[in-house]
Amino acid sequence: MRLFLCAAITLVSTAFAQTPATPAANRSNFNVENIDRSVSPCEDFYRYACGTWLKNNPIPADRPEWGRFDELAERNQAILREILDSASRRGASGSPVDQKIGAFYRACMDEKVVEEKGDSPLKPELDRIRAIHDLPSLTLEIGRLQRMGVDAVFSTGSGQDFKDSTKVIAQLDQAGIGLPERDYYFKTDKTSEDLRRKYVKHVAKMFQLLGQDAETAQASAQVVMKMETQLADASQNVTFRRDPANEYHPMGRPQVNALAPAFDWKVFLPEAHADVQQFNVVAPDFFKGMEAMLGRLSYDDWKTYLTWHLVHSEASWLSKPFVDENFDFFALTLSGQKEQRPRWKRCVALTDGSLGEALGQAYVDRTFGVEGKERTLKMVRDIEDAMEADIKTVEWMTPETKQRAIEKLHAVANKIGYPDKWRDYSKVQVLPTDLVGNEERASEFEFDRQMAKIGQPVDKAEWQMTPATVNAYYDPQMNNINFPAGILQPPFYQVGLDDAVNYGASGAVIGHELTHGFDDQGRQFDGAGNFTDWWSKEDGAAYDAHSKCIEDEYGNFVADGEVKENGKLTEGENIADNGGLHLAYMALQKLLVGKKISEVDGFTPQQRFFLGFAGVWCTNLTPQVKRLEATTDPHSLPEYRVNGTLFNMPEFAAAFSCKAGQPMVPKTRCRVW
Ligand SMILES: [Zn+2]
Repeated sequence: MRLFLCAAITLVSTAFAQTPATPAANRSNFNVENIDRSVSPCEDFYRYACGTWLKNNPIPADRPEWGRFDELAERNQAILREILDSASRRGASGSPVDQKIGAFYRACMDEKVVEEKGDSPLKPELDRIRAIHDLPSLTLEIGRLQRMGVDAVFSTGSGQDFKDSTKVIAQLDQAGIGLPERDYYFKTDKTSEDLRRKYVKHVAKMFQLLGQDAETAQASAQVVMKMETQLADASQNVTFRRDPANEYHPMGRPQVNALAPAFDWKVFLPEAHADVQQFNVVAPDFFKGMEAMLGRLSYDDWKTYLTWHLVHSEASWLSKPFVDENFDFFALTLSGQKEQRPRWKRCVALTDGSLGEALGQAYVDRTFGVEGKERTLKMVRDIEDAMEADIKTVEWMTPETKQRAIEKLHAVANKIGYPDKWRDYSKVQVLPTDLVGNEERASEFEFDRQMAKIGQPVDKAEWQMTPATVNAYYDPQMNNINFPAGILQPPFYQVGLDDAVNYGASGAVIGHELTHGFDDQGRQFDGAGNFTDWWSKEDGAAYDAHSKCIEDEYGNFVADGEVKENGKLTEGENIADNGGLHLAYMALQKLLVGKKISEVDGFTPQQRFFLGFAGVWCTNLTPQVKRLEATTDPHSLPEYRVNGTLFNMPEFAAAFSCKAGQPMVPKTRCRVW
């Protein structure tokens, strides 16, 4: 269970730059051309640093947003495509890994076969759903579907025990809704009501594509909406889920049975490879809600619900009518993306998601080297030193708690680039004309792999992101920071540019991940990854007071129209952004000691540091995606990740000679780290 990863569009890290593989890579991270000099840096630094880039880089039709992260992700995709094309061409003469990824990609690209098959790849499973007639058959099917990667009612997985990070136990959690978040089912504003109407219409259309007449399909869609609303009603919302205390409910099997006695756990758990005794039931109330639903719904309702989730899960890999309808609601309506991505990009992404550590091997060979790893490590060590100095000098913490914080910091492990040992996918059967089957078998492999961890020693070398991913994460239970090779490239780190720019762009990202170990969630885990309170009471209270300032600050930023940022939901990421930039700045100042300070392109090193930082966040977003992210994403929108953070740094105001009373110099400043 990935409760705390710094996922989605997060952040990154950095350090490294290799020979550009495509011309796009030549673009400089620090490009004075991106600056809009008609805006004062003290009025709106984001628009000053990014204004010209924003004007010159409109959102492509096949994207809901377009920023500097996306430029790099596109380049990585192009590299992955070359790898897959050549593996596909080599066919049987390639290595076993090449044969597997090549065949998987080829099956995905074979549109002719996909169109001929229509919805027939779903037939065996639809027949099974139709045959449900009693509790054991319903239970068994829910287990089968979950294993295939279908979002059926709830989720089953494994994870480290919060209070004993050396142990992996089974996890049961809420799931099973089609809209992005629980609150989407209950919000009463016009946009939300309209969205729900469109969702029901979409579900009905999918049932029509499966062969139901319009009237039956409409009734089916209503059943789905009714059941998902009941599941949502029993669910925790995304903000509540940020507190680990709300997510930890260790239970034995009798307690799990007692939560939902009407569910056939005896049948389900062996089917889900969870025939074990120890569980964390992440959201117990959800299972009570499920229990009530089991008492009042007919098997026909369950069959309708499961049919929808099966077709919803596979829609992107069926024939064109399914792909188009799925795109129409989930991309166009929900995020404002106007056109579908070209098929090759969707197939590259699917291959990366399904066989990422097979595809990643050739990617790493092409893009990443020992020197990249070394450069990154040096920067990580500089930032860790800065964090230690910061903890030692922070004025609101007592010496005892400081000592424990430093112990935790020293225990943080760094993982850089790619795994030492690659995952073995030899068990995944890939067939040349079975895209949906290949995808399902890859999901089953991953499900089984997760469940096989239960009772085994924790594998600290495991990665939760694939090597080509443009992102990074901190894992509080492992107490490690992870920087995939995909992000350790230009424009995040550029050989040839000065430290000021690189520490602003990538040092801030390393600092961001490191600070997650000490954000509102991370601080509740100790150096060994255990959920435990190592803070004195007064230090805990002081922390809360400082982080409340951040919560209030960001909670006032407008995302779109009447929708504001959610200060509580984004609290941890904002603390990490603020701490990260501060640590990177400290590290840079140390590097500059004794060096001759000179201006480059008319900017001091300090100014270039802040320009380097802002420059990676230049991003255009559709209004729809701004709303979506403000509601569901723990990260603030890019402009606030820049301006919200800089508001809190007097060093920024000093670097650009901003005066009291100007917008970038607020009356109150917030600071945790
Ligand atoms: Zn983060």
